[in-house]
Amino acid sequence: MPQIVTLPAEAPDKPVVGAPCNGCGLCCAAELCPLGRAVFGKSRGPCPALVWRAEERRHVCGLATEPKAQLTRLPGFLAPLFARLARRWISAGTGCDSDVTADILPAKPAAPAGNAAPRDTSTH
Ligand code: SF4
Ligand code: SF4
Repeated sequence: MPQIVTLPAEAPDKPVVGAPCNGCGLCCAAELCPLGRAVFGKSRGPCPALVWRAEERRHVCGLATEPKAQLTRLPGFLAPLFARLARRWISAGTGCDSDVTADILPAKPAAPAGNAAPRDTSTH
């Protein structure tokens, strides 16, 4: 079913399946991966662990990069191990495995200077 997700205007467009992941965030904005489902108990996106890194112009998985910030009850000494396992569970570094397709919806009215408007995207 089509779904509207909102991503930063500066986020890159989704590459083709198999290409290196560019952190567009579309997959995790649309639905949660098995790890996200297990942790957050829902399947429909956006995933609460999806983190936008403006300085890198890409999204990252917060469970794999900063698990303590996502899971406040996670003991600190387990965070590095959890992050390592999360990277394996989400197959980080293996390329884009999402077949979600999207249309970019017409832009909203301009945001104040220096504050780019988010981009609404219809997935299907
Ligand atoms: S896996 Fe694909 S859709 Fe998901 S963030 Fe990476 S490039 Fe985007
Ligand atoms: S890869 Fe990370 S951010 Fe994306 S859906 Fe899975 S848990 Fe959420």
